[in-house]
Amino acid sequence: MTKIKLVSGTRGIYSFFCPGCGKYHTINTKDEGYKQPIWGFNGDVDKPTFTPSLAVLSVTNIANEYREMRCHSFIRDGKIQYLSDCDHALAGQTIDMIDE
Ligand SMILES: [Zn+2]
Repeated sequence: MTKIKLVSGTRGIYSFFCPGCGKYHTINTKDEGYKQPIWGFNGDVDKPTFTPSLAVLSVTNIANEYREMRCHSFIRDGKIQYLSDCDHALAGQTIDMIDE
């Protein structure tokens, strides 16, 4: 059981479940040979820390209307600290990451 999972076929792209968005987000920690931002990672899949913060924009269907949803967080020591500019209900809260 780990908090994050290496995406198969990659050397350093990890996925984790985001309870705020109700979906998985991915973080790239190694140069995979294409232009993508690379995050710092402490190498601990049980208590991951990524730097800098992670901002994800996704399109979500809410009441049959497609809306852009922002998710902005710090992931430190196996916890997700959601910042106040998230569009979901966990904005401003810090929660433990869920085991994969
Ligand atoms: Zn999210």
